[in-house]
Amino acid sequence: MTTTFFILFFLFTPPVLWLRDLILWFRDRIERFRNRNRKPETSSEVRVKILPREGKMAPRDEDSPTRFVVDSMFLCELIERLTLTHREDVAYIAGIRLGQDRVLTRIIPVGLDSSSVAHANANPTACAEVMIRLVEADIPLVAMAHSHPGNHPESTRPSGVDLRYLSTIERNGARIIGLIVNRGGCVRFFSAALPFEVHIQGNEFKRVNDHDHVYQLAT
Ligand SMILES: [Zn+2]
Repeated sequence: MTTTFFILFFLFTPPVLWLRDLILWFRDRIERFRNRNRKPETSSEVRVKILPREGKMAPRDEDSPTRFVVDSMFLCELIERLTLTHREDVAYIAGIRLGQDRVLTRIIPVGLDSSSVAHANANPTACAEVMIRLVEADIPLVAMAHSHPGNHPESTRPSGVDLRYLSTIERNGARIIGLIVNRGGCVRFFSAALPFEVHIQGNEFKRVNDHDHVYQLAT
């Protein structure tokens, strides 16, 4: 049937017509071949280039200490939110797990039972609700933050209660650190025993000393 069709086609179609189609077909093939080898010229054809990551971060392996990564604008927001009043305040910090890295991404306020200049008691039900929501959403809790009074970097030193609380969490296998901020723009990263490193993206914070992970907003 197909053969009959082609015979009839060639018999009744003027030769010049199918010769023209043949030339057009060849032209089309040549044009396609040229386009395939041509480099993009217009902006719409330029492929998106993946830029290298800002800041120098060493590659990690299984034995490396957990590294907590955060940007300086996040820390400014955390300090602002936890020092709105002179009372201590508490927040959970959720994030992203990337191998040995934990990226701090979200500040979650926690309801308090009581608070004063020297203490803050989180409401257990509110804490449980936050944790259930995170577990259900498969988003890890990466840090717990609270504020201390004062402006000096030393006022961010964790109390015995702070260390004992974090120690209980670490003993259960969680890679979570504590953050303490104050009204002087200081932030301390601490743990009870968990070895860790900190990488702050951005140049707004200066490290206060080499021994502790204490940083202060540069003025
Ligand atoms: Zn404290």
